[in-house]
Amino acid sequence: MFLQMMVIITSTNTIQTAVANDRILRRLEELSTISDDNDCLSRFYFTAAHQQASDLIHSWMEEAGLDVTKDTIGNIRGIYRSDRADAKHFVIGSHYDTVHDAGKYDGPLGILLGIEMAQRLKKYGIDLPFHLNCIAFADEEGSRFSTAYLGSSVIAGNFDHEWLSRKDDRGVSFQEVIEGNGGQVNSISDDQIPQEDWLGYFEVHIEQGPVLCKQDLPVCLVSGIAAQARVNVSWKGMAGHAGTSPMDIRNDALCAAAEFTLLIEDIGKKNKEQLVATVGKLNVSPNTSNVIPGMVTHSLDIRSPNGSFLSEMIELIQTKGKEIAQKRTIEFDWKLMQFNPAIDCDDQLQELLERSIKKGNISQVLKIPSGAGHDAVMISAVAPVSMLFVRCTEGISHNPLEYVESSDIKDALIVCNHFMDELISAHTI
Ligand SMILES: [Zn+2]
Repeated sequence: MFLQMMVIITSTNTIQTAVANDRILRRLEELSTISDDNDCLSRFYFTAAHQQASDLIHSWMEEAGLDVTKDTIGNIRGIYRSDRADAKHFVIGSHYDTVHDAGKYDGPLGILLGIEMAQRLKKYGIDLPFHLNCIAFADEEGSRFSTAYLGSSVIAGNFDHEWLSRKDDRGVSFQEVIEGNGGQVNSISDDQIPQEDWLGYFEVHIEQGPVLCKQDLPVCLVSGIAAQARVNVSWKGMAGHAGTSPMDIRNDALCAAAEFTLLIEDIGKKNKEQLVATVGKLNVSPNTSNVIPGMVTHSLDIRSPNGSFLSEMIELIQTKGKEIAQKRTIEFDWKLMQFNPAIDCDDQLQELLERSIKKGNISQVLKIPSGAGHDAVMISAVAPVSMLFVRCTEGISHNPLEYVESSDIKDALIVCNHFMDELISAHTI
């Protein structure tokens, strides 16, 4: 009864909600100024800006009354512990790394909402039936070492030690970065939450798409996350003089990569209901105006809500690449760096979240799949997961124009607080 009363009081306190909303907005601004680049927001894994952001998040979690630690990989974990001997862990998480020239909401919004959710409960001394964890994942985008979901992979116990040999654009290995910051790579796995100790996972993220704008809704449920693969492709031709080499005897690696890229676009367009495919990063060697490109390496990011269809398309694209290479007498190399199957959000957690959206007076309960990958993908291997999307203007993301209205953040916060109350009630006997 006491708990129920407290829950009703705390979830309807509009002054507290306004204060928390202002704090989130202030902190979003503060984090957005911490960048490795002077003229845009870029915060890659374990750079100076990344460390500075982690210290700040660490202090905010302490301010919220949480027991805070930083693990070897760089995740910041704040815990509000339950007194119960058999308590399991419920995690609210998102990431604090960014892509290059990023927006300020992708990642931090979920972290800051999580801190507020825990702070409200802590303030009222709510007796939790589970350990509540707020985790700021060190790296989700994989911008530095092409390791998507790096931080959450450690917490889920899925860290791949082969990643340690990967090098960044300057030739520094992942292992060197960890050891240079005083970490021991052998202890990375010690930071996981064992599968039997998980209760569940919740993540709030901007939608990064246009649906909520079109529907004029501030938030919605996420039904699941599309399957995703990342491939590193390389083309080895022959460098030569741009003025003296006749056009019909060249082995131009960039022309091969260009033909391949257009073919990928064509396959994507022909299967647009089920597939998106992107070549987003390209390195040309020697990258000189008067030399025929001898070597090209590039990324391929390919996604589908249907995992087996994605596998089929990957195979088809690889075959087409080999054909282009053969036709142009060029060497073709294909390395599948990552494959994540499609995941579904958990029915029971979804139900609690649906009730919370209704209690938050949102006019419609909408459920959509996510084409973007999130840390929930990694956690879904060991625990039931749930996600809430927040509207971002025109669906623009991975771009400095990324924007979320203050009133939408407030609506998200209200729904999140109701969700915590629902979760506590569901696990309180
Ligand atoms: Zn993100």
